Amino acid sequence: MELTCSSSRGGNSPCQEEDSNGITQVVLLGSTGSVGTQTLEVISLHPRRFRVLALAGGRNSVDLLRRQVERFRPEYVVLPPDTEVELPPDTRLLHGEHGLREVATLPLADVVVAATSGIVGLEAVYEALGAGKRVALANKETLVAAGSIIMAQAARCGGEIIPIDSEHSALFQCLQGRGEEVKRLILSASGGPFLRKSREELQDVTPDEALSHPLWNMGKKITIDSATLMNKGLEVIEARWLFNIEPERISVVIHPQGVIHSLVEYIDGAMLAQMGPADMRMPISYALGFPQRIESGATPLELTSLTGLTFEEPDTNRFPLLRLAYEALSEGGAATVVLNAANEEAVYAFLEGRIGFCDIPVWVERALSSIPHAPVETLEDVREIDRKTRRFMASI
Ligand code: MG
Repeated sequence: MELTCSSSRGGNSPCQEEDSNGITQVVLLGSTGSVGTQTLEVISLHPRRFRVLALAGGRNSVDLLRRQVERFRPEYVVLPPDTEVELPPDTRLLHGEHGLREVATLPLADVVVAATSGIVGLEAVYEALGAGKRVALANKETLVAAGSIIMAQAARCGGEIIPIDSEHSALFQCLQGRGEEVKRLILSASGGPFLRKSREELQDVTPDEALSHPLWNMGKKITIDSATLMNKGLEVIEARWLFNIEPERISVVIHPQGVIHSLVEYIDGAMLAQMGPADMRMPISYALGFPQRIESGATPLELTSLTGLTFEEPDTNRFPLLRLAYEALSEGGAATVVLNAANEEAVYAFLEGRIGFCDIPVWVERALSSIPHAPVETLEDVREIDRKTRRFMASI
């Protein structure tokens, strides 16, 4: 892919969120998923501040997308390929990845919320950054699979990424642009529903048990990733790219209460933590309103109702995917692309009852040791390794 920038607009300006009418024009990729619907909830709290310019979604529910269009009246709608829906006559309908790219680079767009799942929106995020846009990034696969390419594009073209992943939003808030004074980043993890289960007990857990996350309301795939701790592994990789920090300086701590969303330790020993309710509308509103804080709709945390905050080391014997993620990150290149694609396929196989819970890391490790780790320099390289990995995983 040609690495060009279609705009010379400065990405560090805090003023790019508003057009001449003072309204922020939002392009929402993945509107019918969990983050997408919660983004629209936040937007509906601020009708004079935000306008939905484009909605892309419908993979899980075309009917939900139709209702969103009726309510928010976007100018553009992007549907999955070969999908149709009745739209108001003045709405422009686009399809598939081409459509995602087109709306992500609309001249009127101020913020592109990237909340698609998997690597569907990879090129759209890349091109939005190329056009100097602010990307509110909820999709971690983008940085896991193509972190160096995406961050280089943002730096070259003046685009900026504001994280929506709650831990990264917490780190972003605690960092406030500081780099050199940082000793390490500490990602907190709830530990998922199986934190206290033995290795033997883990063999028999069902998809339904794995889908009952104790704290967060999220999509199915990420809920399974929380149960295996792979979600935290992917977040370590995401943090490495987002904050340009060596993997050795990123730690994970199990914090079952989920009150502290992550911490930054500084060289003087100070630790800054961001805390609040476990509600995705908080990081979403932070990314939409940055640098201002705006109302999110989240129920405030009641400090006196907390009975205690605890912290413990993650157990990578019972949850080996976290270890595999660190290994893939230190190997670099294709390894994290393989890790991501193999895990996604293994999670779907588990959800469909084709493999057990403890087979997920076994299959990921098998893919990592079987697929040659070619260099990754372009998004095409990423796509090619992703396809190879999924072909390999078809033998499950
Ligand atoms: Mg997270």
